Amino acid sequence: MTTEEIRLLIANGRIDKFYNRGAWRRKSKQILKRDNNECQIHKRRGKYARARNVHHIKELKDFPEFAYDDENLEAVCIQCHNKLHPEKLERLMKKEKKFINEERW
Ligand SMILES: [Zn+2]
Ligand SMILES: [Zn+2]
Repeated sequence: MTTEEIRLLIANGRIDKFYNRGAWRRKSKQILKRDNNECQIHKRRGKYARARNVHHIKELKDFPEFAYDDENLEAVCIQCHNKLHPEKLERLMKKEKKFINEERW
């Protein structure tokens, strides 16, 4: 996928299409292997956690040109990945709150 195509997906809010592509799946497998399936953030603290995700150090939506750049990718565990993307969590929590309010009223 080209940088332009990624930009277009971002603009259309369809970035999930990027992650579902074979090219990304192959790349993320390669990065997990490179990092020995070890969470690099845990590793920097001298701890071990099994990596499940591959994180874009420079965020994909801001730097689509580094989408497949090895230097910009690292293996992370789900826990660390959630911390790296607090905006996603917040959005989820807001949704939940809204849901609770709707239930109540
Ligand atoms: Zn990430
Ligand atoms: Zn971790």
